[in-house]
Amino acid sequence: MKLRTCPQCGSAEITLDRLMGITGIRYKCNTCGYSGDVIVEQDVEKKFRK
Ligand SMILES: [Zn+2]
Repeated sequence: MKLRTCPQCGSAEITLDRLMGITGIRYKCNTCGYSGDVIVEQDVEKKFRK
C-alpha cells in the first residue's frame, strides 16, 4: 500500500483531482494548499501492518 504525501509539508491529506486537461491527474494538499502533479509516495506497509 502506498501513502500519498505532500512534497511541501508532508501531510497525507491529499486529494486526487481528475482533470480533463493534458496531465489528467493532479493532486491537491488539504493542509498547505499545494496543487500539482508531483507527489511523494511512501510505503506504509511497515507502519500499519496488522
Ligand atoms: Zn501540503
